[in-house]
Amino acid sequence: DIDVDTDVAVIGAGPAGAMAAALLVRCGLKVQVLERSHFPRFSIGESLLPQCMHYLDDAGLLTAVEAGGFQPKNGAVFTRRDHEAVIDFRDKFTDGWGTTYQVERADFDQRLIEAAAAQGARVAFGVTVTSFRPDPQRPSLTYIDESGQETTLTAGFVLDASGYGRVLARLLGLGRDPRLETRMALFAHVEEQIREPTFDRDKILIGVHPDDDSLWYWLIPFAHGRASVGVVGSMQALSAGGGDSERRWQQLIDAEPRFSKLLRGARTTRPVASLQGYSADVSRLHGPGYALLGNAGEFLDPVFSSGVTIALRSAHQAAPLVARQLRGDTIDWHNEFERPLRQGIETFRAFVEAWYDGRLPSIIFHDAHPATIKRMISSVLAGYAWDTANPFVSGAQRRLTTLAELCGHTQAVPGENP
Ligand code: FAD
Repeated sequence: DIDVDTDVAVIGAGPAGAMAAALLVRCGLKVQVLERSHFPRFSIGESLLPQCMHYLDDAGLLTAVEAGGFQPKNGAVFTRRDHEAVIDFRDKFTDGWGTTYQVERADFDQRLIEAAAAQGARVAFGVTVTSFRPDPQRPSLTYIDESGQETTLTAGFVLDASGYGRVLARLLGLGRDPRLETRMALFAHVEEQIREPTFDRDKILIGVHPDDDSLWYWLIPFAHGRASVGVVGSMQALSAGGGDSERRWQQLIDAEPRFSKLLRGARTTRPVASLQGYSADVSRLHGPGYALLGNAGEFLDPVFSSGVTIALRSAHQAAPLVARQLRGDTIDWHNEFERPLRQGIETFRAFVEAWYDGRLPSIIFHDAHPATIKRMISSVLAGYAWDTANPFVSGAQRRLTTLAELCGHTQAVPGENP
C-alpha cells in the first residue's frame, strides 16, 4: 500500500534511507520509502565507526541495533610485515562514543528499516524508481513494481538514498570524476577457526601485503565465529595471476603471513565476490526538491570504514532541513547541508589519499607519537571527521604531510609543497 502523495519520498532502505525515514516521521511528516530489493539482502560495508552510534541514538534506532547481538568494536589493528599498530577508539580527542559494532549488513539494515517502520515510516519493497522530475514544491518520481506496473508519486521532497544505485545522479547527470584511482575489492564471508590469544576480535584488522604496499586486507570479525575478509588493490594487481575470484582471493590471503595464519582452517560461507570502480562523486548534493544521501552522493574508499558513517551523517543533517522547508522556511541547501557535510568527507579523503601515497602508513607504523597526536588521529578514524576543533580535521592534509615527514616519509606528495 504505497502513499503516492506523501510529504517525503525516500529512494532506498539502506542505512541512509532508514535514518532519514526515522528522523522525518519523528518530525511528524508522512514518509514513503521505496526499496528495489527485498530484505534481508546482502550489502558490503560491515565495520561501523563509533560516531555512528550518536546518529542511531538520535533517530531512535540504537535499541534495535543493540538487540542484534552484533560483535562489539573498539578500534583497529594495522599490520605490515613485522609491525603492528593499535588504535583504540576509546582513547580519542573528541568526546562521544568510543565503541560500536561490526555487523552483517543483511541483518543490520533490516533492523534499521523495521525500526523506522515501527516509528511510522511506510516502506515498500520490490519497487524500483525509474524516473524523476525535480521541482521546488512538488517533485515527482516514477516507480515500477514487480508486475511491471508503473506509478507516479509526488512528494514535498525527495531524498535519494539509493546507494550504489545512484538513481538521481544517473537520471539527472550529476556524476563527476571521483578523483580517487579506480580500485577493486575481492571479499568473502568465512567461518573462522581463530584460536590465537593475541587476536583481538573487538578490532578490525587491516593488513598490508608484504611485497606490495598498494594492496591491503581487511578482517572484520562478526559474532558467532564468522568474519568478513577482503583484499583491495588496483584492478591490475588483483587480476594478476589469472584464475577465478575464489583462487585469487585465497592466493592473496596466503601471501600475508598474519592473515594466512589467522585464517588457516577458515571456510567460506559466502562465495568470493568482487566490486570495482566503487568510488563515486557528484557535482552537487541537492537541487529543487531533492537531496542526495550516503553513497547515492559520494563514496570514497573502504579503507577507513567511513561509508555507513557518512551515510548516517548525511541523513541526520538533511532530515531537519527537509522538515523546516516543508514548514515553509527557506533553506540554504548549499551552506546548511552540502558544505558542512563535505567538510567531513574531505577529512576522510585526506586520510584516504595519505593512506595510498604512503604518508599515513608511515605515521601509523611509527610508534613514538605523543599521546595528544595519537588521540587526534584516533578521533578521525573513529569517525569524528566533522570536529573542526581537531587539528587533524581542520588541517588534515597539511598535518598529515608534516607528521609523515617527521616519521621519515620522504616521497614527494603531488600538489603539495613540502
Ligand atoms: P546502501 O546501503 O547501498 O542502500 C541503498 C539501497 O537502495 C539498496 O538497498 C538498494 O537496493 C536500493 N536501491 C538502489 N537503486 C534503487 C532504485 N532504483 N529504486 C529503489 N531502491 C533502490 N562502509 C562502512 O561503513 N564500513 C565498511 O567496513 C565498509 N566497507 C566497504 C568495503 C567495500 C569494498 C566497499 C565498496 C564499500 C564499503 N563500505 C563500508 C561502504 C558501504 O558499503 C556504503 O557506504 C553504505 O552501504 C552506504 O549506505 P547507503 O544507505 O548510502 O546505501
